[in-house]
Amino acid sequence: MGTPIRHFTALGPGDAVFTVNIERDFRYDPYRDFLVCTHCDWAPSLLTRQRIIDMAGEHLATVHGADRGLTQQENESFATARRVMLPLAALVLIAVLVYAFA
Ligand SMILES: [Zn+2]
Repeated sequence: MGTPIRHFTALGPGDAVFTVNIERDFRYDPYRDFLVCTHCDWAPSLLTRQRIIDMAGEHLATVHGADRGLTQQENESFATARRVMLPLAALVLIAVLVYAFA
């Protein structure tokens, strides 16, 4: 199993969320990316000319009935790192201002 680096999600019946991940396997040199469905055993090769989001969307729609709201997003840990850094930078700025005018 690789490290998930990107998620494709779509809404199915009853607003259930279905997810397909791109997983990067670093055991290979150079690394290889795989498209992996989190709901079934679907894991096609990415050696294709088809766009990855099209493949993910088609699978989610045809196999799982999730044909609405297809989105792609970065892995949560990347996004979290960004969300943490911004408030941290603001806090440092406030601390500097407080010390400067105290
Ligand atoms: Zn699937």
